[in-house]
Amino acid sequence: MYLRPLEMKIAVFSSKKYDRRFLDAANRDAGYELNYFETRLTEATAVLADGHPAVAAFVNDILDAAVLKRLYHGGTRVVALRSAGFNHVDLKAAAELGMTVTRVPAYSPHGVAEHTVALIMALNRRIHRAYNRVREGNFSLEGLVGFTLHNRTVGIIGTGKIGTAVAGILAGFGCRLLAHDVAPNDTCRQHGARYVTLPELLSASDIITLHCPLTPETRHLIDGDAVSSMKDGVMLINTSRGALIETSAVVRALKNGRIGHLGLDVYEEESDLFFENLSDEIIQDDVFMRLLTFPNVLITGHQAFLTEEALQAIAATTLDNITAFAGGRRTGNELHPEEVVR
Ligand code: NAD
Repeated sequence: MYLRPLEMKIAVFSSKKYDRRFLDAANRDAGYELNYFETRLTEATAVLADGHPAVAAFVNDILDAAVLKRLYHGGTRVVALRSAGFNHVDLKAAAELGMTVTRVPAYSPHGVAEHTVALIMALNRRIHRAYNRVREGNFSLEGLVGFTLHNRTVGIIGTGKIGTAVAGILAGFGCRLLAHDVAPNDTCRQHGARYVTLPELLSASDIITLHCPLTPETRHLIDGDAVSSMKDGVMLINTSRGALIETSAVVRALKNGRIGHLGLDVYEEESDLFFENLSDEIIQDDVFMRLLTFPNVLITGHQAFLTEEALQAIAATTLDNITAFAGGRRTGNELHPEEVVR
């Protein structure tokens, strides 16, 4: 059953002011009825999508079998992810229901890469600490000693669009680049990266940055064993997906000094925290709160994607994906069950 675009009502979950701004602009020509819900999509909130053939969802929306089934019974036939990552969707369940799931495979990978490098730079030169000190009239430099990036070895795990963009930036800094990927690419080699095994990358890198997707194989890729094979004082950066890291192992390594710096834009249990203002609440996640106590940990709340260019591209591609579905056309942005174990 295909629908004419004008019949297409879209329920937009987890929508913030910045999403509305860019989706409204992209919708000027398309003319869909966009109904914005600030709440996350869960089994309890799925009812809001009743009567909407299309749902636009984000990274912390729940799209397991139960939610998909509920959406299907409410009339939804296409779920358009406003993200590249799709680890939160039960694609098998969607296929069984005959629902189409689309994503935005690329939207300014350079923006995510630049945020990754911002975390590296800020942690290394203690910008987060210096900012607070200077505001309080404390001009002491004790504890602010960094290192020169030039000639340091950076290990990039996952050299797709974002990992390759990171390689390009760090090549400009004069870093030595090691890379690990199940599918190496020549652009990354042209930036000077040398592909090595995961154990070699882990043991030889001063900085390790994660850019592979979250899959059953990469879940807890960085566990206690991986951490114990890293250089003492290593800097670990994750702007990909939280569960690539076993957080409890990393907390232990921060406590005994094996990890010298940790920069995160994502966190395993972020769905209960990120994208909301919880400043008046008592946060119950003790592991997350422990992370915040370390002076050498810098966390941002899943904002690496947040540039004007990316929001524009996300909005345009999301609506294009829905238009293609409505017209019975394929864009290549449709997800298939086998991609779960890709
Ligand atoms: P991509 O598909 O272009 O690249 C991913 C790379 O990882 C591919 O080259 C793939 O071969 C490799 N890979 C897959 N399994 C691997 C494994 N087991 N070991 C090593 N490498 C493996 O994706 P991308 O656009 O570069 O995005 C990477 C990830 O970044 C996404 O999966 C997403 O989770 C995350 N992301 C985060 C944000 C953010 O705001 N923090 C924004 C966009 C994307």
